[in-house]
Amino acid sequence: MIEWLLLLLPVAAASGWLAGKRSAETVNAGSHSQLNSAYFAGLNHLLNEQPDKAIDTLLNVLEVDSDTVEPYLALGNLFRQRGEVDRAIRVHQNIIERPYLSSSQRGQALLELGLDYMRAGMLDRAESSFLEALKRRSHIGITLRQLLDLYQQEKNWYQAIAMAQKLREESGEATESMIAHFYCELAEQRWVQRQAAETTWFIKQALASDWRCVRATLLQSRLAIEKGDYKRAIRCLRQVERQDPDYLPEILKPLSECYRHLEGQDEFFFWLTEASERHPGCTSLILAKAAYLQQRGKQKEARYFLIEQLRVYPSVEALQQLLALGVPEDIEAASEPWSLIEEVASRLLKAKLNYVCGFCGFGGKYRYWQCPGCKRWGTVKPLALGT
Ligand SMILES: [Zn+2]
Repeated sequence: MIEWLLLLLPVAAASGWLAGKRSAETVNAGSHSQLNSAYFAGLNHLLNEQPDKAIDTLLNVLEVDSDTVEPYLALGNLFRQRGEVDRAIRVHQNIIERPYLSSSQRGQALLELGLDYMRAGMLDRAESSFLEALKRRSHIGITLRQLLDLYQQEKNWYQAIAMAQKLREESGEATESMIAHFYCELAEQRWVQRQAAETTWFIKQALASDWRCVRATLLQSRLAIEKGDYKRAIRCLRQVERQDPDYLPEILKPLSECYRHLEGQDEFFFWLTEASERHPGCTSLILAKAAYLQQRGKQKEARYFLIEQLRVYPSVEALQQLLALGVPEDIEAASEPWSLIEEVASRLLKAKLNYVCGFCGFGGKYRYWQCPGCKRWGTVKPLALGT
């Protein structure tokens, strides 16, 4: 009951304000009494927990014109926020039907109605309302963002691209990265359907929109690997370092495989060494370099390399790799890794996550191109351990 009274506040305020305004304009007393009796009838219905009757009374008798629309919009929004979407829709539809609205107000009412439909899961109707709102050219930014959200929910990537482009034109918002991900979604669809030419075309569009799109480059490398073009795959994978070095951990395994196919392991080691200098402390590069030394039978070098790196850049992974190398023949050296265990473990007492969102902090074991937490694209990256 108290909630209903709270809900009434904006209506009550509007009614009082409206009555005052009309007095100043010397509108006849009859309309005041009609207004007040309608208001109190509505209040009575609310007190009797008959909200639908209350809405009918308030909407049918109170005139909605360009001066009184705001409280009604607020009333509808309150219903939506309370989860009473049917009532929110009725209020907003009623507002839209009024003839005295300005184009901007009609646009806002259509936007609110669209939000009601979104909340109700009626995406088709929401889309129609938003598109109608867009025609009024008011609240363009927020309406475009709603449409963008809607098309992403529907996985309608063509429309999502169109809306993101429009949003960039209208508001100057940087949507290039998002558009690149939409093209990647289309490319992945074509990839699943084994349509190589279309896949390539969408990848190119993604990179044209955002040259830093790692996802597009990784797709490109997968296409090249499938065709057995390892040289091209290596070029693509190495490009990732320039695009976004945070994704280095993602490329090491396929890069190593490609070099192995070309019998170019030494070249791979050379690249690893150079990359380690460019990105000191990158755990994945440290692990890859130690693994290479190990594969070449250079256990001792691998051990000393890992010890050296662990002192400066502690990580659970490098520690595990060091311990996996086994007890060295040299007893004195054997004490070194064990003494490191406690020190390193105490510095890394945190839940191990593989990926984390740089925007909202969402963490997980798997890679997501769109963050499940904040819905942003390309913000979930491999977690750099030891930092
Ligand atoms: Zn996030």
